[in-house]
Amino acid sequence: MKHLHTEPARNTQNLAECDYLTGLANRRGLYDYYDALERDSIIHAMFIDIDNFKRVNDIYGHSMGDKLLICISDLIRSFAKGFTSRIGGDEYVVLLDGCMEEDEVRSIAEALLENMENIDFRKDILSLVSLSIGIVMRQNTSQMLDNILSKCDGAMYQAKYNGKNRYTFYKEYDKTIEINRNIELEMEDALKNGEFEIYFQPKVNMVTSELYGAEALSRWNHPADGLRLPAVYIPLFEKNGFISKLDMYMYREVCRLKASWKGKKYEHTPISVNMSRLHLYNKQFPDTLEAIAKEYGIPANELEIEITESTFIKDSAVLIKMVDILRSRGFLVSIDDFGSGFSALNLLKDLPVDTIKIDKEFLQVSSNTSRGKKVIRNVIAMCRDLKMDVVTEGIETKDQVNFITRCGCQIAQGFYYAKPLPLEEFVVFAELHLTDTLNNYTFRLNGNLKSEDGSMEGKISGEGLEYRQGIFSDSKSMHFPGGRVEKNTVHIPPETIVNDSFTISLWINPEETHFWSAALYVKFESGFCGIIPTAWEGHSDFRIRDSKEVNGWYDLSALQLTIDTWWHFVISYNAKTETAIAFINGEVVAILENVPTNRYVKWIILGGDVFQPSFIGRLCELVIYNEAKDYDFVRELHRSYIENKKFIGGPLKAVL
Ligand code: C2E
Ligand code: MG
Ligand code: MG
Repeated sequence: MKHLHTEPARNTQNLAECDYLTGLANRRGLYDYYDALERDSIIHAMFIDIDNFKRVNDIYGHSMGDKLLICISDLIRSFAKGFTSRIGGDEYVVLLDGCMEEDEVRSIAEALLENMENIDFRKDILSLVSLSIGIVMRQNTSQMLDNILSKCDGAMYQAKYNGKNRYTFYKEYDKTIEINRNIELEMEDALKNGEFEIYFQPKVNMVTSELYGAEALSRWNHPADGLRLPAVYIPLFEKNGFISKLDMYMYREVCRLKASWKGKKYEHTPISVNMSRLHLYNKQFPDTLEAIAKEYGIPANELEIEITESTFIKDSAVLIKMVDILRSRGFLVSIDDFGSGFSALNLLKDLPVDTIKIDKEFLQVSSNTSRGKKVIRNVIAMCRDLKMDVVTEGIETKDQVNFITRCGCQIAQGFYYAKPLPLEEFVVFAELHLTDTLNNYTFRLNGNLKSEDGSMEGKISGEGLEYRQGIFSDSKSMHFPGGRVEKNTVHIPPETIVNDSFTISLWINPEETHFWSAALYVKFESGFCGIIPTAWEGHSDFRIRDSKEVNGWYDLSALQLTIDTWWHFVISYNAKTETAIAFINGEVVAILENVPTNRYVKWIILGGDVFQPSFIGRLCELVIYNEAKDYDFVRELHRSYIENKKFIGGPLKAVL
């Protein structure tokens, strides 16, 4: 058997096999040497690469680079007790005798790493460079040398991937190294060639099945491998920084596509884009986002930036500031994968974002146990209390839909509704899941109990209700004869109020003064609200009860609705500002702030409630809007009624 040389000077004698610069063997020398080794003997191989060598060449010039190569060759020659070679620019291969123990191999690698800083060279340059070393142990020489080299090269790559300036042993099973390496070689071209495609996953309102928004997710259409999912490439891109380019590409594509949706039903659908933490350190980031949005004419509030919870583990103060800036420019910001880490609660305290996205793993793990369910329920309640929207990710079953809606979260992103869809499929979904009006229901009570769009219908409970003259000469109203608690009322489907913010508009004509009889009553899971035309002497009332608090009574009292007169009563509740406003005949009559949000409507009752005798009089033109309406809207609405030629509602102007 030919033994491995331990004497570096005698590495190779033939000039053609010698590296002119360093005196080590060159690639050819290495192959010839390997071929001459006895078959079936055992060797270890070490692949050494200089980290950041290219920068030395770029900054200090090639001759300085050459000098560094010579110095490092000397270092390798003096510590690596085996056959040493330089097979390319800054790549060295050392073959070691297979009899050497692993410890000894390790100590060679360690000595090389440690002694880098001791070599006799300019310190500023040395501070730039280090070594990444890959080692493969106990290789049989009956295989091709290329085979051995690709293993220790792979291990070297892993050392770089793990942060450079280290050594790594090759593991037979570790295929990811090779895959990652290929990805890194291909990614730039893939982006240029348009191999990255945007998929859209719908976010859906579980109560109405309406489209609420969508998340843009990347897919890589690889020419040879087919569709690649983010799990394959995103973690790698995050390490090597390429994620910044991909994210900005995705963001620009979203803006471009949104601009092409002008005039479509889904034109204003908010789209969210995932942004890696790297951007948040970049002071130009908000300017860049703003400039691109402007270029395509997309309002910032239709663009949402998703940042995963784990981002905030480090440097949270800096990052929180960036979030504030983004929001001040009008962008929506959400915390993604909420509940996947341990920072969750602290984050809620310090980070005012628009939306919290509950992590799918968190949902799956927690919704199996009763304790877990309580945690989710309270997390949702807390987020809602902090005025943040909640989106639950990973909803896959009807049971989850029921559970999560009962917890007070209405928006889902999950396979139950839709997987991430390519553009063409997404727009079809959007067309189907967007209605033109935003869940407004009009019940004219003009001969039947159906809502105007035919989708909802009230039900009479009791007897004696009948249709009489309404506010227009050609319309009717519903007459309520009164009665004991819950007698002679109409139940409106609870699904007509699906939003935390809502407005209710109703024409009321009381026939008798009945203290505390409700014209309309809404029962929520933990509270109620009601319109009481003659609450007490001289007053009407819009009362909100929050039964979570002992003293949770909120009253907007106004003048009494006198009998035998038609009154237009509107109440508007804004859950974001926690403000309730009562209007009578188009004018604001009471405003109350800090009114907590009631959720999950159980019943809506017209003409009575569950505590007091029923209402006596007429009601008509009930309209429920699933959003808070403002003064201008209500004034216009009122005007549209009274300016109708057929309006016979009576003397309305003088009353205020
Ligand atoms: P993410 O932002 O949390 O996106 C949601 C992920 O959950 C998506 O995986 C989606 O397909 C998956 N998902 C949604 N509903 C369900 C469900 O009901 N069941 C199950 N099992 N999964 C569901 P996807 O598309 O594979 O993306 C994975 C992650 O990769 C994303 O998680 C996001 O963090 C990241 N990502 C994807 N594209 C980009 C990108 O362009 N930039 C950045 N920075 N990250 C991206
Ligand atoms: Mg996301
Ligand atoms: Mg997520």
